[in-house]
Amino acid sequence: SFSTAQKPINVNSLVVEKTKQPLPKFTDKNKLIFGKEFSDHMLEIEWDINNGWSAPKISAYHNLSLPPSASVFHYAIECFEGMKAYKDKEGKVRLFRPMENMKRFATSAERLCLPSFDKEAVIELIKKLVLLDQDWIPEGKGYSLYLRPTLIATQKSLGVSASNSALMFVIASPVGPYYPEGFKPVRLLADDRFIRAWVGGSGAFKLGSNYAPTIFPQLDAAKKGYSQVLWLLNDYVTEVGTMNMFVLWKNNQGELELITPPLTDGTILPGVTRDSILKLAQQWGEFKVSEKNFTMSELAKAIKEGRVKEAFGAGTAAIVSPIKSINYKGEEYPIPIDAAKGAGPLTSRIADTIMGIQYGEIPSEWSVVL
Ligand code: PMP
Repeated sequence: SFSTAQKPINVNSLVVEKTKQPLPKFTDKNKLIFGKEFSDHMLEIEWDINNGWSAPKISAYHNLSLPPSASVFHYAIECFEGMKAYKDKEGKVRLFRPMENMKRFATSAERLCLPSFDKEAVIELIKKLVLLDQDWIPEGKGYSLYLRPTLIATQKSLGVSASNSALMFVIASPVGPYYPEGFKPVRLLADDRFIRAWVGGSGAFKLGSNYAPTIFPQLDAAKKGYSQVLWLLNDYVTEVGTMNMFVLWKNNQGELELITPPLTDGTILPGVTRDSILKLAQQWGEFKVSEKNFTMSELAKAIKEGRVKEAFGAGTAAIVSPIKSINYKGEEYPIPIDAAKGAGPLTSRIADTIMGIQYGEIPSEWSVVL
């Protein structure tokens, strides 16, 4: 990697300039809208090819100043992460598997020829930001401070080339529970006119450029009354909206099996929630757990035959999002949902377990206390 001869990120050289004008803090945690409000401070670390990483800085949340020629604006040389800080009942602040986000951040950066970085150091700096702004973590289960680590190419150049300078920043946004009043199962539109990711593409990385083209199909689905797009690739089910896709079914051999597409062909974002669900389900050992490809035709057939027990999306925002139906080729395929809970028993159990870990109620090394 080309940054080894350069200065690594040095946590000890962190400069903290506390804000002189604290921002108006949310007064009603139940009125928070995802990603609209930001905490008092942000973290920034600059990089350039000659000097490596400069001293990290935490200062007041502020606008960035960049030349209009900066390559992030032209070729979308940008990647990001999505993770959360939680406050437990005792007021302790916790992160959930932060190293998993940092590993993914690093692979995204590498895909864009952005600099490599010391993952441990970035976690340490994120901890310092979160502790400084811990009053911005709304209290209560389901509430959290959403963290958005971002890395952008700042090179002043219209050449399509690797950037010789970059900026890493982290901003933080207080968020409420995805389902304030219990699960709300969603209807999906499986529309084969649009493809999110393909073999040889960049779907396995968290690049801004993967998301911009998804807004039009998402709006189109919303206009037709569906809340999310079910992304297909040559009829293979890949992901749902910005979540990984899971199905609990009786497979062709009559076995109860939890399936999700594998990470082998580069079309699936390796979700931290996905990985956590696979590990938990394997530990439970109550049914078969498989990372395997399946087509929408196979899924439609299984739904018709009554073999699909539950289906859900999985991601940091919602943990799990139960699916109640899929529209495919103009036909509606209903998936069983426990009417009282709005989700199937496995979907609820996964949500309870992961939330229990995130808020320190279930002891686990996945929950990192700050
Ligand atoms: N797939 C896509 C396309 C996503 O954007 C996300 C959100 N990062 C996920 C899956 C879920 O990943 P995670 O569990 O790490 O939030």
